[in-house]
Amino acid sequence: CGIVGYIGYQDVKEILLRGLEKLEYRGYDSAGIAVLNDEGIHLFKEKGRIADLRNVVDPTVSASIGIGHTRWATHGAPSRVNAHPHQSASGRFTLVHNGVIENYAILKREYLQDVAFRSDTDTEVIVQLVEKFVNDGLSVEEAFRKTLTLLKGSYAIAMIDAENQEVIYVAKNKSPLLVGLGHGFNVVASDAMAMLQVTNQFVELMDKEMVIVTSEDITIKTLNGDIVQRAPYTAELDA
Ligand code: GLU
Repeated sequence: CGIVGYIGYQDVKEILLRGLEKLEYRGYDSAGIAVLNDEGIHLFKEKGRIADLRNVVDPTVSASIGIGHTRWATHGAPSRVNAHPHQSASGRFTLVHNGVIENYAILKREYLQDVAFRSDTDTEVIVQLVEKFVNDGLSVEEAFRKTLTLLKGSYAIAMIDAENQEVIYVAKNKSPLLVGLGHGFNVVASDAMAMLQVTNQFVELMDKEMVIVTSEDITIKTLNGDIVQRAPYTAELDA
């Protein structure tokens, strides 16, 4: 199970797929990527190996923001439907998650009675909550933060908004996640190894932090909204 993400200027498909291949050693049963361009979100996912995912990715789609995931199923059988990324009801928000949301059933009952869920995962509750809070009037960042404060359990999360090609929303609690820094791009990965192909500068994240990642900069915040400053380190590994 692992997460990758990229926002910048290069075509993102191959960067994500190569990143996921570097995370294969962690074990997984399915994989997927979502990329965003002027036409909207393009979602590709498949049960099985990254090689199987490659077969379903449309080679003609080009985009410079995207997220990817390898899944180790905890809630919901390994299948294409339960593979990540998962989308909100309207399709506006697309999200990948590693970890376990222990209170997903309670959150679903309390906030999402009217939402038709498409998967059997605990993960889907996260992306549906973000959309619910945006529909209630919060900004995307506020809705993301409010959702995170409700979650019990472990998570590494990356989310994109079909209405904004400029941001990847990231969060971490008790599951590994790093942000990687480039010139004109930034990346997200569970393990630096996945993104050594494009950078060796990484910023560690602490539990219960969220990050606003754009192609130009990253802003780390606590779940109270306080900005955190943290210097990058150089990953000394062989790509
Ligand atoms: N709990 C989530 C699921 O079953 C994420 C599993 C993972 O970490 O890959 O879909």
